[in-house]
Amino acid sequence: AADTSKTNSVAKIKVVVRKRPLNKKELAKNEEDIIDARSNSLTVHETKLKVVDLTEYLEKHEFVFDAVLNEDVSNDEVYSETVEPIVPIIFQSTKATCFAYGQTGSGKTYTMKPLPLKASRDILRLIHYTYRNQGFQLYVSFFEIYGGKLFDLLSDRKKLCMREDGKQQVCIVGLQEYSVTDVETIKELIERGNATRSTGTTGANEESSRSHAILQLVIKRSVDGSESKPPRVVGKLSFIDLAGSERGADTTDNDKQTRMEGAEINKSLLALKECIRALDNDQGHIPFRGSKLTEVLRDSFMGNSRTVMISCISPGSGSCEHTLNTLRYADRVK
Ligand code: ADP
Ligand code: MG
Repeated sequence: AADTSKTNSVAKIKVVVRKRPLNKKELAKNEEDIIDARSNSLTVHETKLKVVDLTEYLEKHEFVFDAVLNEDVSNDEVYSETVEPIVPIIFQSTKATCFAYGQTGSGKTYTMKPLPLKASRDILRLIHYTYRNQGFQLYVSFFEIYGGKLFDLLSDRKKLCMREDGKQQVCIVGLQEYSVTDVETIKELIERGNATRSTGTTGANEESSRSHAILQLVIKRSVDGSESKPPRVVGKLSFIDLAGSERGADTTDNDKQTRMEGAEINKSLLALKECIRALDNDQGHIPFRGSKLTEVLRDSFMGNSRTVMISCISPGSGSCEHTLNTLRYADRVK
């Protein structure tokens, strides 16, 4: 039986900001660190020019979040702060999603990459020890949404399509799902998927910033040890490395393809924000039909679900505008 006390103690929506260190390029350009991060709040120090007398002045923007992780925080600490508390409740019929949001180069992939591995290590421990011989199994799948279309990252970018079954469960037809029993296999699958993603069709890294990568850990359970019936889905943990948030503004680009992709990214990030907000307000109606991304995540926006948003920011003065946009977006879903 579900232990609801445990399930209820984990916040429905958690918004965390992660600031990365200044990189070589920013240091070479003498960019200053404009982010003053405290435990759950931060200040952006923006330099502005007065139009009247052309003198510079500082404008401060203050934000409060569930947690702010500064440049000294390790990936292990990011895990403890975000996904670790959610792992046990996945066994209690919960669907949870962890997003990385931010401009290209802000640290989304750096932040997201280790999380599913750490989570599956903990999940496998629970399966092998706490829930020993209770028929739980872990499955992994990894796909991306690019230009509003789905591609399997564990199956040579095979094109996929989506279907809803009668019970409002999302089904992605043909998606490879691997049953895993050890961390090493998971690691290989994650590496394979990430490599497939970044090389894409043109081999340009550009491309990965225009796609949403979705890695799902699914826990299933065999019904009464019966071999004949397929195992039933118990819970799901999705990790989403979102497209670069600045790409949503590519809607005036000269290239038609880029414009279309920009419009799709813009649409999906807006729809995502609306879905998370609806979830928070316990609204009956979740506007998931706004984009492919939210449609795919439909069953994760319903019922007893959990959402963690990790907003990644670059600390440099040159990224001020994008950083403020990211923080305002995070502020809206909070
Ligand atoms: P994104 O996926 O948002 O485009 P990346 O995750 O690829 O950005 O990060 C850009 C670069 O910054 C990478 O070289 C990455 O290793 C580095 N980086 C990102 N976050 C951190 C961090 N917290 N600490 C150290 N290096 C980081
Ligand atoms: Mg990336």
